[in-house]
Order: sequence, then C-alpha cells, then structure tokens
Amino acid sequence: MSKRDYYEVLGVDRSASPEEIKKAYRGLARKLHPDVNKEDHQAEDKFKELQEAYEVLSDQDKKANYDRFGHQDPTQGGFGGQGGFNADFGGFGDIFDMFFGGGGGGGRQRGGPQRGSDMEYTLAIDFQDAAFGLTKEIEIPRTETCDTCSGSGAKPGTKVETCSTCKGSGVQEFVTNTPFGRMVNRRTCSTCQGTGKRISTPCTTCRGTGTVRRRRKIEVKVPPGVDTGNRLRISGAGEAGERGAPSGDLYIVIRVNKHDFFKREGTEVYCDVPISFIQAALGDEFTVPTLYGRENLRIPEGTQTGTVFHLKGKGMPRLGNGVSKGDQHVRVVVQTPTKLSDKQKEILRDFSKELGEEAHEPSKSFFDRMKSAFKGE
Ligand SMILES: [Zn+2]
Ligand SMILES: [Zn+2]
Repeated sequence: MSKRDYYEVLGVDRSASPEEIKKAYRGLARKLHPDVNKEDHQAEDKFKELQEAYEVLSDQDKKANYDRFGHQDPTQGGFGGQGGFNADFGGFGDIFDMFFGGGGGGGRQRGGPQRGSDMEYTLAIDFQDAAFGLTKEIEIPRTETCDTCSGSGAKPGTKVETCSTCKGSGVQEFVTNTPFGRMVNRRTCSTCQGTGKRISTPCTTCRGTGTVRRRRKIEVKVPPGVDTGNRLRISGAGEAGERGAPSGDLYIVIRVNKHDFFKREGTEVYCDVPISFIQAALGDEFTVPTLYGRENLRIPEGTQTGTVFHLKGKGMPRLGNGVSKGDQHVRVVVQTPTKLSDKQKEILRDFSKELGEEAHEPSKSFFDRMKSAFKGE
C-alpha cells in the first residue's frame, strides 16, 4: 500500500507555515476524530494517518527530513508514525487534545535540556457534573521551575559560562556522507548534558537542577458531556522541563460516579420507574426526574411492564458540541401489590370473577404457544 503524501493528508501546500499546518490539523482532527465518526469504520485509519502526518510536519527536524527524503527517511528507518504517538497518548489522542491542546506537536527536542514529563490525574466527578460540566480545583505534586534561579541552576549573581564543547548550542553534530546524501546526526552535548552552559556556583535552592518539587493547585475545566475514560489535556501543566526546557502536559482522566437512578450509555440516559398495575391498566400521567428537572410522562391505558418511553433531548449533551443532547429512556416496571388487606383481596377476587376466562388468558395463551413450540421439534 502506498502512503499518501503528508501535505496531501493535511490539505496544505509545501510552503505552509507552522500555523497553517496546525490550523489544518485541528480542523481535520475535529472532523475525522473516531468519537465523532462512530459509523465510519475507516475513521480510525484516517485519523491515524492525520496524526502521523501532523506529528512529522509539526516537528521541524522531522519535517526537514521528510521534505528531503519523503517517506524513505534513512535516518529514521521510515516513520513508523504510531510509535511515538502511541507512547505519548496511549492510543488515540482524545478529542480533548483538540480543544485544550496549546502546544501541539510537542515532540522531544533532540539535544538540549529534556522537556518535562507528562502527568496523569484521575478526577472523579458526579453524574450531574458530567452533564453540565464543572470547574474544579485539584492539587498535584509536581516539579516546577526553581524561582530562586529562574531555572538556570546557577546561584543568583554568579556567572553562567557557555559550554566550550558545543559553544552553547547543547548539541554536538556529527556529519557523515551516505549514498542518500550528507547526513547530520545530532547528539546531546556530553560535556554540559545539553544545557549549553557551565555552572560554576550552583543555586542552593535547587542544587543546580533548576527545578523544585511543589504541590500546586490547578483549576480544571471539565466540559459538559464527558464520560469515564475521557482524557483532558492541560498543555504545559505537567512536570517542569530541565533548565528552562518546556514543561510536560497534564492529563486529567475522567471517572464519572454511578448514579442511583440514572444509567448512561454515551449520550443516552436510562432509568426505571415503578408503577402500580392500576396505573398500567388505566393509564396515568406523572412526573419523572431528568437531569434537567422533572418532566411529565403520560402512559396510555393497557401499558405493559417493561415498556420504554422516550423523553427527547433529556439525555447527556454531546461532548464538544454543547448543543445536541441524547434522549432519556424511561422503562416502566409494574409492581405487584403485596400485603393486601382482606377487603382488597376480596375486591380482586370479585374482579377476577368479572373477567371470567380472561383472567387466565395470558398464561393460557402462553402455554398454548409453548406446546406448539415443542410439537415443532
Ligand atoms: Zn535554583
Ligand atoms: Zn555543551
């Protein structure tokens, strides 16, 4: 199978700026995200293709290699694509990535100080909060840039010298000639570990690392419609990078608590409502709780137990859409009366007499059908 050109996948031309590439990616990602295209079985593949194209074109080094070598990059042994992407996101980048992601292609810089690690935090929220969204303050222990030295690692007032090995770039270059052309291999400078600097007097607060551990309060905005397992990315809220390198991202993993009355599948909300056999027989009108307050429900006379009634638009909002909602499905369950008084039993016996044969009709016709089923064997 031949691979599509990455520029073609993103629908941009080769001179597109990083901003244009990011914009094209976000637009397409929203359109192609598997969460949005449940019916389309190719959506996953299309989305993977898009992710892969963006991963390469949003990264300066990878893009340069791609521009030069196309899909056959000798320095990479082909862009497996999925590799880096899956490792970072554990599968599909959630749709949240598109809404919250500031950074985009935050690939690891080659050479130079390491970007901070990503962090994960599980946030349990109530059923109702999943419907309306909420803002919650959480507290996480994380590594942050040292305030004393602003992350430089050097004691304030002391001099930071430039690393003589790499002349401050943090990177050592090795040039080799191959049949494919001139290849430049970059490696982190071994003298300064990629910082490009030489610190003679380390900062006493952080002992020269440029980072400190701290518990930090973070405000998390959870949008309406979230479900268990959804991941929300807060760009740059993860661990601080080494000596001024970018911070990692913070992922909020949502867990929606169970509700006593409501159950949920995607945007659809389900509940059971007990009714008396009299309500079922004669029909009735009563109110049913929904996420948005009480709603009137009319059931016709002769309603059977297990019948499901639908309250349109009373389900969960569609994530990221904010306008359309699912339905609430109300199943009525007929309760058989217990603890009847003698008088009530008498009335029921009279009622049964009044029905005559009909009183036994349901079980009779059921057994008739059973018999014919056995005969057919
Ligand atoms: Zn410091
Ligand atoms: Zn160096």
